[in-house]
Amino acid sequence: MAARRLDGTAVAARIREELAPKAAAFAARHGRPPGLGVVLAGSSAASEIYVRNKLKTVAEAGCKAALFRLDESASLDEALATVRSLNADDTIDGILVQSPLPAGMGKGAEQQVFDAVDPAKDVDGFHAINAGLLVQKRATLVACTPLGCIELLEREAIPIAGRHAVVIGRSDIVGKPMALLLLHRDATVTICHSRTTDLPAMARQADILVAAIGRPGFVTKAFVKPGATVIDVGINRLDTADDVARFFAEGSAKRRQFAEKGSVLIGDVHPEVEEVAGALTPVPGGVGPLTIAMVLRNTIAAAEARAQ
Ligand code: NAD
Repeated sequence: MAARRLDGTAVAARIREELAPKAAAFAARHGRPPGLGVVLAGSSAASEIYVRNKLKTVAEAGCKAALFRLDESASLDEALATVRSLNADDTIDGILVQSPLPAGMGKGAEQQVFDAVDPAKDVDGFHAINAGLLVQKRATLVACTPLGCIELLEREAIPIAGRHAVVIGRSDIVGKPMALLLLHRDATVTICHSRTTDLPAMARQADILVAAIGRPGFVTKAFVKPGATVIDVGINRLDTADDVARFFAEGSAKRRQFAEKGSVLIGDVHPEVEEVAGALTPVPGGVGPLTIAMVLRNTIAAAEARAQ
């Protein structure tokens, strides 16, 4: 039987509807809307799309959404100066620095820029203070992608407490905070990564399997216990006919899409997993829209916390 499709687009739309009145109430109380400042350095096509979607979502909910562009050739000092000016701007409650920063800023630049963000405005939840507060289960601002995954599980009434959750991927941005959020909801959590021995066997123990790896179609049926819930965080682009043919059958919607557009998106989960999983997030239309809805939620949460 085909897995239940966990429709992130629909859930994110409901969340945005719930948040818009909160933004309006904040504006009425404080004489200004919650404000988000996004720093975008360089001109990666993918980053442009992510940033545009975040700004549009936040603006449509009645918040201020401002873009601060830096050239591809901008220095680390310029990026740090932009962040500091946003830290000092009282109309900005949330700061988001779009990753990746241009390679020319040097190794470790991203960490330095994230560290420079005022923790009270850190709507990405990447600052060490917010990461630490998350460990202690008292964070106001939590990384948007894992927060969105949890929101989806809860709104789709998928039980977490007492279940075995396996997270593949241990990045600071997705894997680690995901594991902590599941732990805080009383799941038994296993974190797997590139050095895990017999990964398929580990993953097959999962009632909830989260794939945050960055490798197209990596999680096959062999990784999935029948009936498990599978959350596919990966976003990978396929842009050759051979790659598309490796994953998608002749006559499928993705093949048609490739013929029209020249590329298609695929997650970290192989399409065949649909045959065994109990529930599955699509890519696109699964975790992505939730991530963006959580940027809005965190912007309003930061505004409210700062106003107190
Ligand atoms: P990352 O590269 O920082 O981390 C990848 C993790 O996967 C690492 O911890 C690594 O140990 C693990 N890994 C790599 N190869 C592996 C292997 N062969 N076996 C087991 N584990 C392996 O990536 P990230 O920032 O955590 O992002 C992961 C994916 O999620 C990417 O595809 C990214 O595009 C996507 N992403 C999506 C959203 C969204 O909104 N949907 C947001 C952020 C990231």
